[in-house]
Amino acid sequence: MQVYGLLGNPVEHSLSPPMHEAAYGALGIDARYVTFEPDRDAAADAVDAAETLGIAGLNVTIPFKRDVLDAVEPDDVARRVGAVNTIDFSGEEPSGHNTDVAGVERAFTHQDVAIDGRDAVLVGAGGAGRAAAFALADAGASVHIANRTVDRAESLAADVPGATAGGLDTLDRVAEADLLVNATSVGMEPDVDETPVPAEHLHGDLAVLDAVYTPMETRLLRDAASAGATTVDGAWMLLFQGVEAFELWTGRDAPVEAMNEALRAELD
Ligand code: NAP
Repeated sequence: MQVYGLLGNPVEHSLSPPMHEAAYGALGIDARYVTFEPDRDAAADAVDAAETLGIAGLNVTIPFKRDVLDAVEPDDVARRVGAVNTIDFSGEEPSGHNTDVAGVERAFTHQDVAIDGRDAVLVGAGGAGRAAAFALADAGASVHIANRTVDRAESLAADVPGATAGGLDTLDRVAEADLLVNATSVGMEPDVDETPVPAEHLHGDLAVLDAVYTPMETRLLRDAASAGATTVDGAWMLLFQGVEAFELWTGRDAPVEAMNEALRAELD
């Protein structure tokens, strides 16, 4: 039996175990997915211990995504993003990957939203924002990053090819954009009446991905739907980062429907 897991602190409310175990069930894979909650200063030790114990793969979440960089061989994407959310132990050295990037790209393409050649506005420049910025730019979009703390947007834009940056006062660019990604925590439970982007900027030619998934239908997505925009909820991003990790670990196509059903059953 293979053991996969999640390294984080806290991890008790993680949605990854049911999502991955649904995939094992659907494909008849003899594996379990468990959670590990080491002390906050013990990320590297935990990676070493997992390798020693023969664990096949780990996902990594808050607060360890940066800390584990030194304990693995990061791939190009993880190195550029500066964070690892997936570790694969099948090689000589543990390798580090960032499947949040593919999560953003696949969330859009699964809904038939093209990214290449499009103008994108990204609001937020934290962990999810970094992944989204590289996802959009690598897939061929030109990216404007708007963040409450302007320095943070500028420093991210300096790492992302062709990106520009500004404060939240530059959100009026959404009116001319094709794609909008919210990677702030604004609109998350319990503050469900808040929105990161004023409704007046939303329009019918826009596709909007909200990284927030609690609730799945945020005020931003409701406003976007009212404006006639295409909406993509945060559960799709969460799903596809898991799909990408599953495929990386197993070398098999993930049973996307089974994983999606399991995830949405937990979120409902
Ligand atoms: P983070 O690193 O703490 O970044 C938070 C971001 O939100 C920063 O850009 C911050 O701006 C901004 N922000 C916070 N409060 C704000 C406010 N009141 N007004 C304007 N901006 C505000 O968090 P994260 O890990 O990137 O997560 C952000 C959201 O994405 C969370 O809701 C998280 O659950 C979600 N997420 C979803 C997925 C998925 O797979 N769907 C994956 C990862 C994260 P400053 O820089 O100015 O502080």
